[in-house]
Amino acid sequence: MLTEGLTVKDLAEKLDVKSTDMMRKLMDRGVFATINQTLDKEMAKDIAKAFNAEADFVTFEESVMLDAVEISQAQNALPRAPVVTIMGHVDHGKTSLLDAIRKTRVTEQEAGGITQHIGAYQVTVKDSRKITFLDTPGHEAFTLMRARGAKVTDIVVLVVAADDGVMPQTLESISHTKAAKVPFVVAINKIDKPGVNPERVKRELAEQGLQAEDWGGDTVTVEVSAKTGQNLELLLEMILLVADIQNLKADPGLPASGTVLEAKIDKGRGNVATVLVQNGTLKVGDNFIAGAIYGKVRAMFDENAKLVREAGPSTPVEVLGLQGLPMAGDLFQSIADDNKARQIASYRQEKLRDIALAKTSRLTLDQLHKQLTEGEIKEVPLILKCDVQGSQEALTDMLNKLSTDKVKVRILHSSVGAITETDVLLAAASNAIIIGFNVRPERKAAELANREKVEIRLHTIIYNVVGEITRAMQGMLEPVYKETRLGTAEVRNTFRIPKVGTIAGCYITDGKITRNAEVRLLRDNVVIYEGKIASLKRFKEDASEVTRGYECGIGIQNFNDVKVGDTIEAFVTEKVITDLGA
Ligand code: GDP
Repeated sequence: MLTEGLTVKDLAEKLDVKSTDMMRKLMDRGVFATINQTLDKEMAKDIAKAFNAEADFVTFEESVMLDAVEISQAQNALPRAPVVTIMGHVDHGKTSLLDAIRKTRVTEQEAGGITQHIGAYQVTVKDSRKITFLDTPGHEAFTLMRARGAKVTDIVVLVVAADDGVMPQTLESISHTKAAKVPFVVAINKIDKPGVNPERVKRELAEQGLQAEDWGGDTVTVEVSAKTGQNLELLLEMILLVADIQNLKADPGLPASGTVLEAKIDKGRGNVATVLVQNGTLKVGDNFIAGAIYGKVRAMFDENAKLVREAGPSTPVEVLGLQGLPMAGDLFQSIADDNKARQIASYRQEKLRDIALAKTSRLTLDQLHKQLTEGEIKEVPLILKCDVQGSQEALTDMLNKLSTDKVKVRILHSSVGAITETDVLLAAASNAIIIGFNVRPERKAAELANREKVEIRLHTIIYNVVGEITRAMQGMLEPVYKETRLGTAEVRNTFRIPKVGTIAGCYITDGKITRNAEVRLLRDNVVIYEGKIASLKRFKEDASEVTRGYECGIGIQNFNDVKVGDTIEAFVTEKVITDLGA
């Protein structure tokens, strides 16, 4: 078993061969390495093979995990505090709830101290048991962490205002939490308000599959008020109850491992990271790596700005002593051997690009069948965005029906509207494919999808969506036509020309528009019409193409309902030569 970051010397020792022999083999491959130089995975494997040894390569995290598993089997893992994220629609009281819980819990001695937002805090319930709250509320932060491969939240508290009920972001929160397979506790907030009806909220939640216990379901639901503090104690107890079912454990005897929640440069203190310790215990003086950053714990603070010497499982701490800034979501690992820690950090820095790339090889429809047949996946995770509720319902229904005994179509989230960054993050975190029906990605979402290698399939015909997914599941996907986007234009004026129709006075914002292109008219990222260009003019002259930064007049065949503010997207569909290899 070989570990990421190993040196020529390490490998020689592992394989029980002379370092000089090893260096010779490296030279054969054009690599002139010194004995302390680190080897990358491919080279190490190749060299091992040259010495007739089969090498399993594990990343450093995996090797530590493996060690950790062995140790925790030998020793005793103990119960740990649950880590909670609060989600819900804007203005339903997430921040108020976090503040109220925090305030009621501050002990006398802490009350005088400075409380600071470090990304998380811990409260004590019933004098002994603890709960850790992440204090960046919302499903975006939650899913961003997941997309980076971090799993920190054990329980989600879904806040729904009693006077407002289930709203779009409530639905998103539900989808994101379900996709992560994290249990819920529902907090129906603002029950102090006169005339509110929590029963109505429970009915709405039941429609989303979150049936309250007093409605015969198994979703723990508490009616609270962040304003008056009513039932906050009960909410905390219910969180513990749900935590008990999960049987959360960690071993404080291990070296610390966890996740970076936040990192920043602080005036006077240098690089500071808030780390959630998830297993083991972090101590002042420990060497560690956080992502690709090496560090040695110089000092640690809790959320009350109090110096601490140790931090056990589920504890958030601010850590000083990093040599750079890690990213939120990076894995944190303390390592006994100082040299090893430095080696791994420098190796990672070199490899950061590759690692980032490796992380983003996501599911595409083309690979779907292969992965299904190889048993790598047993379900097809989809995110569905539609123009109207009617198409959303029809498509959800038809796609769900594609599920077979062996393969399940799993719609992680479906809603009406443009494809947003949050949708892309959810897809990245859950390895899902996004289907846009008569909608487009917002510009930032398209960029993110590109970076994260998330596949977005855009359609305008229901049967094409269903057909495409069916064929992908059967491994018969033959992309016969491929759409290439040419450019987009913004409609800034409209002119009625008798006997011709409406001409859109446009400004090309990117790419180009050609006379023979097909076009799509978008209003608020929803497809209003698709057709061909009837006329393309620069001033009074016919033009064969107009590029970015220029103005032009566009007439669309058989369509006159153009409005100022619309977007015209030009594209060509090309026949793709089917790949018969592989
Ligand atoms: P967030 O957007 O979900 O973080 O919501 P906030 O915590 O900012 O709360 C939105 C508004 O609702 C604020 O004006 C709060 O004062 C108010 N609010 C929050 N919780 C309660 C509550 O329990 N009762 C009442 N009456 N108002 C509340």
